[in-house]
Amino acid sequence: MEAYAVTPIFKGGWLIWENAEDVGMYLVCGNNRAALIDAGMGTGDLLSEISALTDLPVIPLLTHGHPDHYLGIMSCPFVFLNEKDHSLMRHYIELEAQEEGTDTPLIPKLLPLPARIDLGGLTLSTVPLCGHTQGSTGFLVEEEKVLLSGDGLIYNVWMQLDESSSLSEYRKTLENLQTFRPCFERIWTGHGIESLDASHLDRVISLLDTVIEAPFGYPNPSDEPPGIVADGAGCKITYRMDKI
Ligand SMILES: [Zn+2]
Repeated sequence: MEAYAVTPIFKGGWLIWENAEDVGMYLVCGNNRAALIDAGMGTGDLLSEISALTDLPVIPLLTHGHPDHYLGIMSCPFVFLNEKDHSLMRHYIELEAQEEGTDTPLIPKLLPLPARIDLGGLTLSTVPLCGHTQGSTGFLVEEEKVLLSGDGLIYNVWMQLDESSSLSEYRKTLENLQTFRPCFERIWTGHGIESLDASHLDRVISLLDTVIEAPFGYPNPSDEPPGIVADGAGCKITYRMDKI
């Protein structure tokens, strides 16, 4: 099996799907520069995959600081990530080194995300998606009306982690995202081979309202961080009772 499956999703945009890990990353190419949004687990030769698609300089961007999104760019000299997730990413890198009994590896220099990136003919702008992690950030591809959301807005939003905010705080994030609603029609997430339509945002807000008012759900699978899965119509939220 190939390490990656590459699918064009708009003119200048590709989903790079990491087959072994069920995680997606995105390459967006303008006329002058390209951006890589997330990098997966690094089970294949990601840089070769990218150089087959473009010879433009590539800016590495992360939606948040979780290992399944950054491990593929550990060899890069720098990466842009919301400052609120810098310590989280360092924490996971140190944790993995401890578990493996190795020294903490050299890591890319972490730089704060710019608000807007002009790639030439395509423009990325950042929108806060804090909730899943404090620094979760989405990238709007303005000309294509696409939101690249990482894990910040996804079919099953994981809110049960220590670094996740409360459901009420996350709801405020999504309420703010509603003001950007004219800017996107499709949502491409960090763990899906198909896009979601923009109304997914309404479904998640509605499910949040239900859970906040009267928590419900079932325990999630034991191979995942413990939580309760609330299954709504077309979306799920995994959460903890101490973080409503
Ligand atoms: Zn994540």
